[in-house]
Amino acid sequence: MHRAEIIAVGTELLSFSRPETNSLFLTYQLAKLGISVVRKFTVGDRNQHIQQALKLALGASDFIFLTGGLGPTNDDRTREAVAAALGLPLSEDPELLDRLRRHRDRLGLPLSSNYRRQASLPEGAETLPNANGSAPGLLIRWKKAMVFLLPGPPHEMEPMAIMEVLPRILKNRSVAFQPVELLKTAGEIESRLDERIEDIYREYSDIETTLLSSQGIIRIFFCWNGLDDTTLARTRLSEIKDRVRERLGDSVFSDGDVELEEATGSMLRNRGLTLAVAESCTGGLLGAVLTRAAGAADYFLGGVICYSNRLKVQLAGVDPELLARSGAVSEQVALQMASGVRRLLNADIGLSITGVAGPTGGTDEKPVGLVFVGLAMETGVEVRKLQLSGDRQTIRARAANLAIDLLRRSLL
Ligand code: ATP
Repeated sequence: MHRAEIIAVGTELLSFSRPETNSLFLTYQLAKLGISVVRKFTVGDRNQHIQQALKLALGASDFIFLTGGLGPTNDDRTREAVAAALGLPLSEDPELLDRLRRHRDRLGLPLSSNYRRQASLPEGAETLPNANGSAPGLLIRWKKAMVFLLPGPPHEMEPMAIMEVLPRILKNRSVAFQPVELLKTAGEIESRLDERIEDIYREYSDIETTLLSSQGIIRIFFCWNGLDDTTLARTRLSEIKDRVRERLGDSVFSDGDVELEEATGSMLRNRGLTLAVAESCTGGLLGAVLTRAAGAADYFLGGVICYSNRLKVQLAGVDPELLARSGAVSEQVALQMASGVRRLLNADIGLSITGVAGPTGGTDEKPVGLVFVGLAMETGVEVRKLQLSGDRQTIRARAANLAIDLLRRSLL
């Protein structure tokens, strides 16, 4: 049995307010590969404490994971502490420095000395691309162990673990290709989606299938776990991906880097359609998500944040009698908000969200998490009733994504 240890770095993780969750995610992923986590540490941003934990783990385990403390600020000490504990010199990597400089240039910001620190690597370290942030992960092969340094934020760490770490563990030797395929779906519930595709992935004992659910979007990773044979791996991976895609049909919106709002935005752009939104419980989040896509101005006009009933009537054209009768969170109000904003802003499509984001305000009849999404187009109106789980921010983020998904499906 292979042994793993996890060192979560971050003083905030020692406080009462910030739960340490990265190790739970890693433990689950490693368990599926037959690797047991035998010890975990949570340490503050102190060089000495990071070194002490790492020294205990070295020699005792085959896989060591440090998460957090890779950022540009002074309290990010992981890189330096690991280099010191392993006796490896740190030196600036010109290619990484160049990549960071271009990243900062794009933001119109200088490459301060803090950021330069991110470009210094312990000798022999391999960088792991970070799809969701600036700090790359690092892999150091030390004697027989693999030491991974991963970013702290879960939305950076989790995809990196799946895309970059697991394949390297599975193929603990050099590979000429990336043995991972990906499908992204929206509008599905994780457990139900798992049931729908389980019979397919169980046929592929040489492929590790992992579902990663976040804010209404589920990413399905297929990770090659078979013989070191590129042709076989490619064939099997594309076969499983095609079968799962066919099974899931319209729920799949991407098989690569494209995000939900980009996929939906392209459909609007290609058809020359414009969109306006009316938001209540999401308070502008729907507009924020839509405008994450570059070039959103081609189709997104803007919208109305009608959080109060007064603005639902005044700006989104909701009938005050209907509001009094059915309450702000109702199917009819969602529909009127969508139609109203479509009219008001002279858009081809109106999209609306009204719901109970919680934690207060829920009733037996309208519990926390109840959300209505309305859609108004030339061809007619549509509404989707959602019962979402999670805390306030999760409910709001899911509602925004699922509203975009309703729109996407109506354009198929
Ligand atoms: P950044 O570039 O954001 O500074 P980093 O790799 O330095 O990245 P940290 O600064 O250590 O990461 O952590 C950033 C945030 O990520 C923390 O405030 C915390 O919210 C979250 N985080 C870090 N480690 C964990 C963990 N082990 N479990 C859960 N959340 C974590």
